[in-house]
Amino acid sequence: SLKGKTAVVTGSNSGIGLGIAWEMARAGADVVLNSFTDRQEDHDLARQIAAETGVAARYVKADLSKAAECRDLIQQAGRCDILVNNAGIQHVAPIDEFPVDKWDAIIAINLNSAFHTTAVALPMMREAGWGRVVNIASAHGLTASPYKSAYVAAKHGIVGMTKTVALETAQEPITANAICPGYVLTPLVEAQIPDTMEKYGMGREEVIKTVMLERQPSREFATVEQLGGTAVFLCSDAAAQITGTTISVDGGWTAL
Ligand code: NAD
Repeated sequence: SLKGKTAVVTGSNSGIGLGIAWEMARAGADVVLNSFTDRQEDHDLARQIAAETGVAARYVKADLSKAAECRDLIQQAGRCDILVNNAGIQHVAPIDEFPVDKWDAIIAINLNSAFHTTAVALPMMREAGWGRVVNIASAHGLTASPYKSAYVAAKHGIVGMTKTVALETAQEPITANAICPGYVLTPLVEAQIPDTMEKYGMGREEVIKTVMLERQPSREFATVEQLGGTAVFLCSDAAAQITGTTISVDGGWTAL
């Protein structure tokens, strides 16, 4: 059980981050949720997790495109035994037309934020005598696709940083690993299904299997619960010697 541990999950008011926060709470960890908004519904998510699982949960607003806010998020958490760097955005364009502001935002949110949070969280983990860094990379941390230069660069970058953090903590009870999801069924992906069905004139199952999951040999989406379960596993005793590596949850994408 993760009772007594605090998990800070960045970018966790939707999708994979929220799924991970739920699974951490179900495993007994107190959770700190985060995104850049400060709406009633963000705080309600924390209340709902606390009410259903009995852990302490709260929501802390921080815009992770800004270095100071990344660092402040961990300070405000007060404790960070488990750091899940999950916040991420995407933009698709050929490199010679890639908007500079989009490139900068993707590198800031998908890569730099993990540097800042890790830098502040590691001393807290050392103080507590235990720690887990779980970075949410992507199949695009290991392979590339055209028109995703910033995303692929950031995700390869976070895989490299994960290995470095693992080496710097190798002789301590701290591990650092990256999870590399393939295509995950999040609300954002779900919302693309009707348009894609329309565009290709296909039914739901056909468009999912032949268009959306073309690169995922299982022809099934991964789920946010499966990503949460993988993150919880990395926090277990069984995973204490797993460090500096990647775990793909991609239905065979990177085996192709
Ligand atoms: P999502 O859009 O549902 O979640 C992204 C989260 O990051 C949201 O909570 C969002 O509010 C937050 N965020 C965005 N900008 C932020 C900022 N400036 N400051 C703080 N928070 C910010 O998408 P998701 O699919 O759940 O993605 C989560 C992570 O998983 C990302 O790093 C993404 O690259 C990665 N990933 C997703 C898939 C997939 O198929 N969905 C596949 C591989 C990797």
